[in-house]
Amino acid sequence: MQKTTKEERLECSICWEPFNVFENVPYVLWCGHTICKYCLLGLQRAVVIKSSGFPFQLPFFVTCPWCNMLSLRLVRNGAIKFPSKNYYLLWMVESMNGSRSDNKRITSEQREV
Ligand SMILES: [Zn+2]
Ligand SMILES: [Zn+2]
Repeated sequence: MQKTTKEERLECSICWEPFNVFENVPYVLWCGHTICKYCLLGLQRAVVIKSSGFPFQLPFFVTCPWCNMLSLRLVRNGAIKFPSKNYYLLWMVESMNGSRSDNKRITSEQREV
């Protein structure tokens, strides 16, 4: 059974920049939404309202712009440690860029040793 609810677009739905491997790298949030690296870095930190009514910023969390779910964001020395890249989208981007010819091809026969 295949889900064909929505077409996966190869561009960020926030800044409309096309995803690519180096600059607008797609990252996938906990909720499953995909966002480019720049928009991820630009997200406001998540704010929770404590029972006292005092808003409190969570240090390592952001909220998804689409569904408001919390997601962890760890950035160290300018490098994103979390969330992880959307490797499926990266693969799509790579294959659409036509760099398929000289890609390393993994043959299943070579696994026998
Ligand atoms: Zn973006
Ligand atoms: Zn979401």
